[in-house]
Amino acid sequence: MAYPKVILNLDYIEANTGVIAHHCRRHAIQLVGVTKVCCGSPEVAGAMLRGGAEILADSRLGNLAKLRQAGITIPLMLLRLPMVTEAQDVVSLADISLNSEIKTLQALSAAATQLNKKHRVILMVDLGDLREGLLPSTAEKVFKKVYRLPGLEFIGLGTNFACYGGVVPTPENLNQLVTLRDKLERDFQVRLPVLSGGNSSSIPLLLSGQIPPQINQLRIGEGIILGRETIHRNPIPGTCQDTARLVAEVIEEQSKPSIPRGEVSQDAFGEHPVFIDRGERCRAILAVGRQDVTPKGLELLTPGLEIIGASSDHLIIDVTGQHRKFPIGSTMEFVLNYAGLLGAMTSPYVEKEFLYSQNRQGTVKP
Ligand SMILES: *Cc1c(COP(=O)(O)O)cnc(C)c1O
Repeated sequence: MAYPKVILNLDYIEANTGVIAHHCRRHAIQLVGVTKVCCGSPEVAGAMLRGGAEILADSRLGNLAKLRQAGITIPLMLLRLPMVTEAQDVVSLADISLNSEIKTLQALSAAATQLNKKHRVILMVDLGDLREGLLPSTAEKVFKKVYRLPGLEFIGLGTNFACYGGVVPTPENLNQLVTLRDKLERDFQVRLPVLSGGNSSSIPLLLSGQIPPQINQLRIGEGIILGRETIHRNPIPGTCQDTARLVAEVIEEQSKPSIPRGEVSQDAFGEHPVFIDRGERCRAILAVGRQDVTPKGLELLTPGLEIIGASSDHLIIDVTGQHRKFPIGSTMEFVLNYAGLLGAMTSPYVEKEFLYSQNRQGTVKP
């Protein structure tokens, strides 16, 4: 099975990491490289480490296990709040986890005690985006109940933006995290040295020098892998955006009318598509579909081409405006956005290929 295939350029990912690590170092920020969009790929993790990531993070324990098995020895962080039923595995696989629930922290504490380990915890605070995290008003009450649990070491506070509510990080909301940390340190006579100030949506603040100086950690996935911040999805200066491509093969190229013939009901996904009569069109069908990638995740490289439909296993492209021919057996390439890359990396039907520069050919060691 050669196609569909996702091709990741590891040199670009390493270079992108280097650019972001440079900005982080200028502000004494620790860079956490997030591998979740690449299913915890050890190859991608290796590129991140060479580029300067100091910690690796993923949302799934299975992916952290993969990184450990690949021989990676630096600290690993679990991004998604742990399931209480997986507390044992969290403690054995992750050095650090992000948390917001008392019951889960108690389970982690019990597991850590049993395994004779110290598990590091970042307490998540919701600063408006309304995904995970304690409201600032309840954080103190919860902290009081958990900060002395045996086997756990509370290393700091964290927050997340632009995931559910699309809320933008600002100096103001990030300063709330600083204030809360200072208050907890005072009231409980503890040290909470880590302030984990968000994901790729914090990159614009990082670049403009507006991140509060107390914020000393960022968890970056998309910014590294696709070279974009996630507020406006603008390219990060000095990084490469063409890191991930999908290649698929043409299995039909024929001219057909643009309006279906016969009584029109639902399509394969229960939707009622609308058609405009544009006359006879030349269309290519590619052997790739929703089982491989979301069509919205694909960006065509050639002007004049247009994706006009997708079902589970087929992608239909209008190629009328294009002089180049797409004969049967030829391939078409797409640049992948975040959603596209996530789907392609997750799908067992998509072949994965990693590109290295000449001198690194074949070496997959992180
Ligand atoms: C996914 C995730 C990140 C990384 O997000 P990017 O937008 O890819 O940088 C950081 N933190 C948490 C908690 C996440 O779930």
